[in-house]
Amino acid sequence: MRYGIFGGTFNPVHEGHLHIARAFRKTMQLDTVLWIPTKVPPHKAAEDLALPEQRLEMCRLACRGEEVFQVSDLEIRREGKSYTADTLEELHEMYPKATFCLLMGEDMFLTLLNWYKPDTILRLAEICAVPRSVGHEVRLEEQAHVLREKGATVFLEQIPYLPLSSTEIREAVREGRSIRGKVPPLVEEYIRSRGLYAKGGN
Ligand code: ATP
Repeated sequence: MRYGIFGGTFNPVHEGHLHIARAFRKTMQLDTVLWIPTKVPPHKAAEDLALPEQRLEMCRLACRGEEVFQVSDLEIRREGKSYTADTLEELHEMYPKATFCLLMGEDMFLTLLNWYKPDTILRLAEICAVPRSVGHEVRLEEQAHVLREKGATVFLEQIPYLPLSSTEIREAVREGRSIRGKVPPLVEEYIRSRGLYAKGGN
């Protein structure tokens, strides 16, 4: 089995996330893409953060109808901070024969060596990254080279990038602007009905 592992804050999940998961599913011939929302994001400040259960539910709504996509509460259930290395070790124990492809955007890719136990990550997963900006191709190639020198398997996928971020979506909601087309319709409805990210809400 070939698993795509897609971790993130998903606060909220948006079309940019779906875009890269679909692209890697094809190019990496993944049997399953496991979406794993983090409980406590180690890389980010926790301002304006929806509850773990809400982020998990939005991922489930976004993945509905896409059989290959599964949403996991593995990190949300685990005590303490969510570290990718721990998650991969847990998954490796559960599925010792599986291949794991860790999916990520440019921002995460460029900081990978600063994560907790990077060597464990590089040993247990193939790294699959996409650009998240225009004009940084050289930096991405340089980082791929550094990681390969350390023994990692790295795939840089030059898919056209969707200029979307969760930050921008939260801002739009706060300012009362439309987020139509930027998140799946069921996620849009969930955000609206729960009053997430609205001024004074959440
Ligand atoms: P925020 O704006 O709150 O920082 P985000 O949009 O970066 O959030 P995350 O949930 O932090 O979303 O991202 C999960 C993963 O998806 C990360 O690896 C990130 O690089 C990647 N990603 C998110 N949006 C895009 C995009 N538009 N294009 C490519 N990769 C993306």
